[in-house]
Amino acid sequence: KYYDQQAGIVDWILRKDSDPVQAVDGVSFRLDENESLGVIGESGCGKTTLIETLIGLHEPTSGEILFKGTDVSTFDKGDWKQFRREVQMIFQDPFNALDPKLSVRETLEEQLKIHDIDERDRRIRDVLEQVELSPVDNYLDRLPKQLSGGQKQRVSIARALIVEPELILADEPVSMLDVSTQAAILQLLSDLIDDFGVSMVYISHDLSTVSYVCHQLQVMYLGRVVESGATEVVLNEPKHPYTRALLSAIPIPDSEAERERTELPGTPGDPINIGNGCRFRDRCPDRMELCDKTPESYALSTDHHVACHLHSEHDDQGDLNAVSSS
Ligand code: SF4
Repeated sequence: KYYDQQAGIVDWILRKDSDPVQAVDGVSFRLDENESLGVIGESGCGKTTLIETLIGLHEPTSGEILFKGTDVSTFDKGDWKQFRREVQMIFQDPFNALDPKLSVRETLEEQLKIHDIDERDRRIRDVLEQVELSPVDNYLDRLPKQLSGGQKQRVSIARALIVEPELILADEPVSMLDVSTQAAILQLLSDLIDDFGVSMVYISHDLSTVSYVCHQLQVMYLGRVVESGATEVVLNEPKHPYTRALLSAIPIPDSEAERERTELPGTPGDPINIGNGCRFRDRCPDRMELCDKTPESYALSTDHHVACHLHSEHDDQGDLNAVSSS
């Protein structure tokens, strides 16, 4: 059981009068059962397009998306119906994700009806316990306006979980919640992966939240992955100048030590006029002449890749390239 995505270039046509935008370019990953992948980057880096592509809203112009070994482009109507049950989304905005006219019970019942699932009362009660909305009877008949932001997000998570999905795509699930509620929801998401065998793609602009939830991390910049690897490795030994800049902005908890903050000049730029070379070069503090050429992805180890010329002494297998003495 696994989810495998090897999207090539996705053409995302947004502008009436212009060429397609390469919103996601060369992103590739494999996600196994009980695994979670964090995709991090600023707005416009392509992470939302990536999720929309995974759920079938965009068709990759090259590459393929395999779900449990089958290319989704070969799915018939029945396969898509099954896929829509097995892959569930949790959205960023819990305040608008729920129908204001439906009670908690009706919201969850509606999801079960869509997917022809029986034993509705038992499932509703079980899932509300799972997301820690208990005593359950206190919540069943509440409307969204009678719930706090955190409780609404728990109902959204319950709606995703109640159909027993294999994969959850979480799009900035805590960014609109206050800090103490964020911690509780992150803990809940982490428990879902560990205790219920769910896999997750978690996208966020906030590196500080991913370590709670994600085993693997991909840092994206203007549609490309610039650094990837085990979350612990990327956070403790960031190698790409962009990852280092993102991390430098996070305060160190319970520490008086100050991180040296890297301020990035400018904005990420226009995805329609990217041109050749490293996409980060206009903002990079380490830019050099070579950066006018697009960097390959170099393997620093089997589990840590970086697309930056600063690490070109490594090849794509993680071996050090021989340095000529002549
Ligand atoms: Fe900076 Fe060059 Fe590395 Fe790009 S390739 S991140 S511009 S040093």
